Amino acid sequence: NAVAPRERALIERRQKLLGPAYRLFYANPVHFVRGEGVWLYDPDGNAYLDVYNNVASVGHCHPHVVAALSRQAATLNTHTRYINDVILDYAEKLLGYFPPALSQVMFTCTGSEANDLAYRVARSHTGGSGFIVTQLAYHGVTAVISEMSPSLGAGVTPGPNIRTIPAPDQFRAGGADVGQAFAAAVRDAAADLRAHGIQPAALLVDTIFSSDGVFAEPAGFLAPAVAAIREAGGLFIADEVQPGFGRTGASMWGFQRHGIEPDLVTMGKPMGNGHPIAAMVARPEILQGFGDRTRYFNTFGGNPVSCAVGQAVLEVIEGEGLVSNARDTGAYLQAGLRQLALRHEAIGDVRGAGLFIGVELVRDRASRAPDGATTAKLVNGLRERRVLISASGPHANVLKIRPPLVFGREHADRFLDALDATLREVA
Ligand code: PMP
Repeated sequence: NAVAPRERALIERRQKLLGPAYRLFYANPVHFVRGEGVWLYDPDGNAYLDVYNNVASVGHCHPHVVAALSRQAATLNTHTRYINDVILDYAEKLLGYFPPALSQVMFTCTGSEANDLAYRVARSHTGGSGFIVTQLAYHGVTAVISEMSPSLGAGVTPGPNIRTIPAPDQFRAGGADVGQAFAAAVRDAAADLRAHGIQPAALLVDTIFSSDGVFAEPAGFLAPAVAAIREAGGLFIADEVQPGFGRTGASMWGFQRHGIEPDLVTMGKPMGNGHPIAAMVARPEILQGFGDRTRYFNTFGGNPVSCAVGQAVLEVIEGEGLVSNARDTGAYLQAGLRQLALRHEAIGDVRGAGLFIGVELVRDRASRAPDGATTAKLVNGLRERRVLISASGPHANVLKIRPPLVFGREHADRFLDALDATLREVA
């Protein structure tokens, strides 16, 4: 479908003003002016079903969050160098969702900054500088973290202190125990770092492996890898930017599905439902040396307005039972997708946890030959049906399904109908 003249003009204006590094979604980019719940609206009032945006996790423009933001913005907004109880109340509430050993939090504005901070803390604590990440990881945009984000492509070269390991893909493991295979890769990477005179500092993983292609099962598979990095003298950093705040339907954090306790946990995206707040949660004994040697100040990170927003987000997650909704609607959606797979050969695999689901598109089920072309057509075809979705994985052939957590069965049905129709059209 052709880009309309009004949008074409805006795209030109955007290129002129914002330069060449930004990318728009879709062959026919969408223009939004308003959001509410699971819906985004274009200037003509057309509603698009949001099956993609995990940031507006409690729903677009949730009134409770908007009210908390406006109230605090009208009262006080400073930074973390004055005494203020809004910040402490939020810190206490947030830490209440963690195992007791993870009892301190530092605030940032973005997930990238949280990972950057975790990188510094891990180096400071271990004395090492080696980091292990997955082959298609994404952890953020700072200079250091982009070098640990191979999914950014060939334009960003991994730093000499970085080792990449294959994502825990059960299919590729070929029947082997995926947890043991992943741990063995960690041990090999740690040994290789050592062989190059580099002491391992940490294993950093997104506990739902979002950019790698969504790998959630079997729950518990991360435990041997955590043991392996600790044996090598490194820390385990759980990047909860994608799975955190209840998305996996099992618990607040992705790491909990694996029965593990990280040393450092980073989070962001859904934390402020779109307002920029992110954080690193730590074991105090790990933070101690770092704090003794240096001070940390983040101008906007964890200011009273951000903390009021964060608090309101947690209240909505609890008040509306969104973790159990993620579990129930997620299970319903996965079952519906498996039904679709009976009719559509192009669906090679359906996997995930809660409201984070990957649907792998293949040219051939036996070999699982990836079908990135059909996936791109599906993403664009769904957009023409006013359903928003995207793709990830090494061949961009995994539909990434992660709607706001207020997604109900009626929304799941609507999505499944649109996917069925689009598959019939393009596959
Ligand atoms: N970690 C993961 C797993 C992410 O998906 C992202 C963002 N896509 C980040 C970190 C970086 O977060 P931010 O964009 O807020 O810097």
